[in-house]
Amino acid sequence: MSRQAATARTDVALVGAGIMSATLGAVLRRLEPDCSITLVERLDAVAGESSGPWNNAGTGHSALCELNYTPERRDGSIDIGKAVHVNEQFQVTRQFWAYAVTNGIVADRGFLNAIPHASFVRGARRVDYLRRRQRALAPNPLFAGTELIDDPDEFARRLPLMAAERDFSEPIALNWAPQGTDVDFGALSRQLIGFCVRHGATALFGHEVRDLTRQGDGSWTLLLGNRRTGQSRRLNAKFVFVGAGGDALPLLQRSGIREVRGFAGFPIGGRFLRAARPALTAAHRAKVYGVPAPGAPPLGALHLDLRLVNGKAWLVFGPYAGWSPKFLKHGHFTDLPRSVQPDNLLSLLGAGVTELALVQYLIGQLRLSGPERVRMLREFVPSAVDSDWELTVAGQRVQVIRRDRRRGGVLEFGTTVLSDADGTIAGLLGGSPGASTAVPIALEVLRRCFARRYQTWLPALKEMVPSLGVELSREPALFDEVWSWGSKALQLEVA
Ligand SMILES: Cc1cc2nc3c(=O)[nH]c(=O)nc-3n(C[C@H](O)[C@H](O)[C@H](O)COP(=O)(O)OP(=O)(O)OC[C@H]3O[C@@H](n4cnc5c(N)ncnc54)[C@H](O)[C@@H]3O)c2cc1C
Repeated sequence: MSRQAATARTDVALVGAGIMSATLGAVLRRLEPDCSITLVERLDAVAGESSGPWNNAGTGHSALCELNYTPERRDGSIDIGKAVHVNEQFQVTRQFWAYAVTNGIVADRGFLNAIPHASFVRGARRVDYLRRRQRALAPNPLFAGTELIDDPDEFARRLPLMAAERDFSEPIALNWAPQGTDVDFGALSRQLIGFCVRHGATALFGHEVRDLTRQGDGSWTLLLGNRRTGQSRRLNAKFVFVGAGGDALPLLQRSGIREVRGFAGFPIGGRFLRAARPALTAAHRAKVYGVPAPGAPPLGALHLDLRLVNGKAWLVFGPYAGWSPKFLKHGHFTDLPRSVQPDNLLSLLGAGVTELALVQYLIGQLRLSGPERVRMLREFVPSAVDSDWELTVAGQRVQVIRRDRRRGGVLEFGTTVLSDADGTIAGLLGGSPGASTAVPIALEVLRRCFARRYQTWLPALKEMVPSLGVELSREPALFDEVWSWGSKALQLEVA
């Protein structure tokens, strides 16, 4: 039998200790030093789910190398609209990180490292696509400096590991962007949450939010279960941010807000091959993204990355898709079935019918044997030796399925911020481009849910993100200024 304590009160409840709650918490703490903040996390650590360094790919997604953001139009021209949008979002995040390190919010800059981003293709047709992609991107200030490399000697100079034992009779090319980054979102989350706690926030680890009930005054009462003792308690909050990763959909469903009706979720896991042999990591100093396979989700393109985690260099290759009905890596097999409700059944079925290519891709991925995975690795590293690489299981991404009049439901790969009409609760569904967009997402939550106070916060927010409200791709001089300021503050030097 669980015993129940009196209801505690807080201004803001943050559900989940991943990068999203950490970022929103740190921004709010800075804006409103006196408001009470309580963070509730079901695990015993920060970033135990998708934000942990081994649960994601650590790419500072800025569309420098991800080919899904630069599709080819029918007339052969390259559409760079999505790439510019994703890069603009990353610039907002990067500026906040620069602010955080110069203002004592984050003490250790080691979470962020400069690592070139490259796109890699084989075959004459794709080489031609990369040439056109480079020409389309290069005039934009956010992508200036992107090079086309199609000379085998230069390829070998930049990427010795990928060049070793490669048959260069087939045309190859790279788009090379020196300004890319590798990010340890776990180390960053720990520092941001540490900052909140040092400045008066309360953190409850090992506590799970099991239910949320709206009160007559518009506040929310959260039912919390202590996973160690079995005790339960109540927490009343004026504002709730559901930064629960894959669990955001079920929690928002439990809140009963109208805005979540019709949404469903579909979990896709990720697995990577990982190697730490110094001879390998020394010969590959980049993140290299390939062409997405047919049916693969947007960020499902295979890539070979140098990662820096706790100061140690690793090579990581993947993702290979995994599947389980769990919405969290440490979740329950009942997560998917329990999320199906009368209001989202049609959305789920509709998406199932329209996403046959994705289903086929997933089945193909699940059937991959160990040697088949290494064969795919050898397309990047022809000299790869099986025994250097181990398979790791990364986090779960719960892709959003949205109701669609015509098709019943459509699967979306972006991130959706949901909030109720009164701005008392907000949450985040979906997972791409993910952690890299944590800061624009936090700002969006504040703008929607604290609409009146947002105006008074603007001067402080502009200190955190000097380009706030400006499209940097249209303001090259401002871009140069904030880029140089950020690079200096973050001490970004190419690895
Ligand atoms: C394979 C993979 C690769 C990725 N690669 C990248 C990448 O290269 N770059 C990038 O920017 N993004 C990437 N992402 C996406 C990125 O990892 C996520 O978008 C981001 O980490 C989500 O952060 P979050 O704080 O919302 O969720 P999470 O980090 O998942 O945190 C949610 C937290 O909420 C807790 N929680 C859940 N339910 C409850 C509850 N009921 N009560 C209390 N606590 C609860 C969980 O335990 C967890 O700690 C990747 C994701 C995956 C899966």
